[in-house]
Amino acid sequence: MANTKSRQVRALGLCSGGLDSMLSALVLRNQGIDVEWISFETPFFSSVNARLASRTTGVPLTVENITPAYLEMLKNPRCGYGKHMNPCMDCHALMFRLAGSVMQEKDFDFLFSGEVLGQRPMSQTMQSLRYVEKQSGFDGYILRPLSAKHLPETIPEKKGMVNRELLLDISGRSRKPQMKLAEAFGIKDYPSPAGGCLLTDKEFSKRLKDIFDHQKTYTEAELHLLRYGRHFRLDENTKIIVGRTQMDNENIIKYHNPAEDTVIKVKKYPGPVVLIPHGGKKELMMLAASICAGYSKAPDLIPVDVGTATPHGHEIIKITGIPPKDVQRFLI
Ligand code: SF4
Repeated sequence: MANTKSRQVRALGLCSGGLDSMLSALVLRNQGIDVEWISFETPFFSSVNARLASRTTGVPLTVENITPAYLEMLKNPRCGYGKHMNPCMDCHALMFRLAGSVMQEKDFDFLFSGEVLGQRPMSQTMQSLRYVEKQSGFDGYILRPLSAKHLPETIPEKKGMVNRELLLDISGRSRKPQMKLAEAFGIKDYPSPAGGCLLTDKEFSKRLKDIFDHQKTYTEAELHLLRYGRHFRLDENTKIIVGRTQMDNENIIKYHNPAEDTVIKVKKYPGPVVLIPHGGKKELMMLAASICAGYSKAPDLIPVDVGTATPHGHEIIKITGIPPKDVQRFLI
């Protein structure tokens, strides 16, 4: 959007870190355009792959946490969800809207992404790509270099900032054209195209829906906790998280809030960390302690010592474990 007569054309790309992101930037860089990337983070997806892609290609990267704006969209996406809690169309529209603000602030000329027409059945049809452009507020300024020849000419192409002839006409689900191009650019390491977004995960989506249904507000840490352990809903106001592995236990401790949460752990025997986010009534804390004992290596049918830590202090209670099979009805 800037006066480009006196300087190199500058483009800002959305980067997921996948091969298509890398290729889209390199195709533009090859025709002399100064490319940079932006990548967005939330508790549902990270910028790990984007950082790797930036290291591989040398394309400068800015990372921004967009959790508050993302949550607002995620609770009520205009186009609804995909198979799980993934609002792909509105997710893309939001990302382009935010990237568009950065484009204006930092004097880039246009936006680009590695999207390929027809690669994903829902979010990359001609209609979805158009929806995203319109909703983003930057209609005409979003270039998809890999599929450009199948798409309407964008403003930077019309203005002569980009040579359309040097753009590509890739479409569909085959990855062969991208792999060939990767070879030509000498790119050997890139992550597999699928995965990386927890909103497309069935189990994670159930937990996210549960928290949306039962809490008006939640912290970013609570959303990170949805990734770890087994989650049980004990009543409308109380849920517990039971670590399955050492890594779960460590992350439950890392993301818990000592000012509000209750942490439960069996004494003397190996077992899970159990968390009650925001604490719970006495009888539910007892139930959580028996679930904790039931999932531990403590002997069955014998009362064992279980430690509880609440914001008000530590306590040890003696309790018999409930076998895991008897608590499956609480599982989220
Ligand atoms: S998979 Fe996740 S990150 Fe990707 S568009 Fe869909 S919601 Fe957004």
